[in-house]
Amino acid sequence: MLKLYNTLSRKKEVFRPLKNKKVGFYICGPTVYDYDHLGHAWNYTQADFLRRVLEYNGYKVKQVMNITDVGHLTSDSDTGEDKMEKSAREKKKTVWEIAEYFTKIFFENRKKLNLLKPHIVCKATDHIKEMTGLIKILEQKGYAYKIDDGIYFEVQKFPRYGRLSGNTLKKLKAGARIEINPQKRHPADFALWKFTPKKVKRQMEWDSLWGRGFPGWHIECSAMSMKYLGKTIDIHGGGEDNIFPHHESEIAQSESATGKKFVNYWFHTRFLKVEGQKMAKSLKNFFTLADIEKQGFSVLALRYLFLTSHYRSPINFTWKGLESAQIALNKLYEVVASLKSEAGKIDKKYQRKFLNVINDDLNMPEAISLVWQLIKDKKVKNVDKKKTLLDFDRVLGVNLSKVKKITIPSSVEKLVVQREEYRRQEEWQKADEIRKKIKKLGYKIEDTKVGPKIKTFR
Ligand SMILES: [Zn+2]
Repeated sequence: MLKLYNTLSRKKEVFRPLKNKKVGFYICGPTVYDYDHLGHAWNYTQADFLRRVLEYNGYKVKQVMNITDVGHLTSDSDTGEDKMEKSAREKKKTVWEIAEYFTKIFFENRKKLNLLKPHIVCKATDHIKEMTGLIKILEQKGYAYKIDDGIYFEVQKFPRYGRLSGNTLKKLKAGARIEINPQKRHPADFALWKFTPKKVKRQMEWDSLWGRGFPGWHIECSAMSMKYLGKTIDIHGGGEDNIFPHHESEIAQSESATGKKFVNYWFHTRFLKVEGQKMAKSLKNFFTLADIEKQGFSVLALRYLFLTSHYRSPINFTWKGLESAQIALNKLYEVVASLKSEAGKIDKKYQRKFLNVINDDLNMPEAISLVWQLIKDKKVKNVDKKKTLLDFDRVLGVNLSKVKKITIPSSVEKLVVQREEYRRQEEWQKADEIRKKIKKLGYKIEDTKVGPKIKTFR
């Protein structure tokens, strides 16, 4: 029995899908205006654990992820510049080039993290028709109104607004500072469609019933999730920062349009901090997967690190923590490589325990500690250990099935000898250059009292 914490009810609930063994799972994708960073990696890896846990339980999952390539403004309250257009201007590229480039990097990173590919990946710019169709329904039902800069959703017509985030209309009204847009009927009213401002030339704009412009940020997720998964979906996921206003607004516009419940289970991942601080470019702690690799770590070590934190606890990323994760992962690979694989059986007792912990709202830290318990358990035969670990890896996803007996290639061994030579001659810089070369090949040197020890990073 799988239990998941539901942000809407604020408690753990038994997961019951709408249709027997099928699960519709929508996850908010990235806004592709810049490199994705560790926060994205954390968020999408947790969503990947959820998908794998569902599949481990025998559910057939249909996962849909959008790509936001238009309409996400620099301020979440529908003011400011479009992030995509701004990035294109700064980088002197077309907005389409920007979208393509960062989407490509995003998917390369997903692959490195060993994240399963969503069944459907949908771009906002490919679904303008679906969005304007939904806005039209909202307008016909009296939920939308037009002002100078766009078509807005009137939150006061949806009394349940605020149930997901706790930001009720009353609180929002009291907390609103000077209204930037005095034509709005309530400070929380959000844009469904924005008009291209006069004298502005946008690269992305479309004609609509209301005028030339572009969609608001929230409408894309409602339109695309309805198109691919139906009016009501089982699970909708995202980062904690998506709860408000994004998901709150998705609920309001979707349920107003269809008259049906939009989402049964809301899954939100907490923030990632770096060395105890909020990640920000100004603090120079804004890391990408390329930075992880540049420091000589494998991206799967990051995945292992993510396994040791629960998705609903804020994670604090530290380089020291990553180092420990790398060492633990290397050790796990060494163990798996040393176990013979012929004709083993999955240990049922451990499998049951594993299922119990992952089904308790994805308790991955417990799952990892169970892995080490199993490895140390002398009562379980080695062949069965291997079979069981490979079974667990369907959820853990650290590529245990690809681990082979670790052999150091002769080219690396030669480099190690050469480095030792330089060190003897106290040519430290040259020695260090070789160390970097070795690192690039996926190996790490540890200088011990008895000489250098080579470790694999892959
Ligand atoms: Zn979304």
